[in-house]
Amino acid sequence: MVRVYGIFGDPIEHTLSPLMHNVAFKVLEMNAVYMPFRVTAENLSGAVQAIRSLELGGVNVTIPHKEAVTAYLDHLQGDALLTGSVNTIVNRDGVLYGYSTDGEGMLLSLQKEAGFSPQGKRVLLLGAGGVARAAAFTLIREGVEELSLVNRTLQRAETLAEQIREKTGFVVRCFTYEDSALPDYLGQLDLVVNGTSVGMYPQTKARPPLPLDKLSPACLICDLVYRPLETELLKEAKKHGLRTLGGLGMLLYQGVLAFQHWTGVEPPEKAMRMVMERFLTEGINQ
Ligand code: NAP
Repeated sequence: MVRVYGIFGDPIEHTLSPLMHNVAFKVLEMNAVYMPFRVTAENLSGAVQAIRSLELGGVNVTIPHKEAVTAYLDHLQGDALLTGSVNTIVNRDGVLYGYSTDGEGMLLSLQKEAGFSPQGKRVLLLGAGGVARAAAFTLIREGVEELSLVNRTLQRAETLAEQIREKTGFVVRCFTYEDSALPDYLGQLDLVVNGTSVGMYPQTKARPPLPLDKLSPACLICDLVYRPLETELLKEAKKHGLRTLGGLGMLLYQGVLAFQHWTGVEPPEKAMRMVMERFLTEGINQ
């Protein structure tokens, strides 16, 4: 019988996850399919129950359900416990397990694609939403020496910093983009991660307002936005001679990890990356 997987979100039209998982099933000749499901907030509990009743193998969860879905699961595992956010649900004989593979996906991308290890490093994270949250907990777990947040809404960054302090004891410094102390601070950084939606399609000309000329030439700029593949931030960073990393790797590796949780099988990374790259370069007018 065909095994069904999918993704719950709202909106869901623009997800690339079906592309990467279906190509993986095809390459591995697995009798399985991955479908996008539009699930509204009021239908979330019923949709999670349907994972059991329809015997789905598992699903990914995306905006806006990553936190709310935790209330309907039987067990939270690993990073999901720490962050209170789930992007992957595994159905093991009717028992639902929630995982978060976002932070680990970002870490694998940094390590494998940029040769960057967070241990002992000084990192500035732009944003204080869901993705920034996952990134922050992973970077702290991986032993960064210093982590700071910059967010348009200072209050949101301070709330995240407080939750991080309560859960890990790690003290995070918060800035706004207008903070007069920010430009001088930039020179000592090893990594800047954009965890905001600034620069994402269709607003591709926008970039976070950071004075890139203040960064040290050794600093890596990682933009978690993957649509477009090369954002305005990355283009500008390159002009300043900085090393850059786009968000496709994080998307790929969070998917690879979800696939492993569902099937216990190593998925074909190369084919998954290629199908998404092709779609993003040929399928969208950037
Ligand atoms: P979110 O929870 O809605 O958070 C959005 C963040 O962006 C907030 O910090 C928000 O600041 C900031 N922001 C939005 N518009 C801004 C503006 N005009 N100027 C300054 N800051 C602005 O979204 P999320 O789930 O964290 O996702 C953020 C982005 O990450 C997505 O858009 C997507 O491109 C990317 N992403 C990548 C992956 C991947 O696998 N690579 C996965 C998921 C998402 P305020 O708090 O001030 O509103």
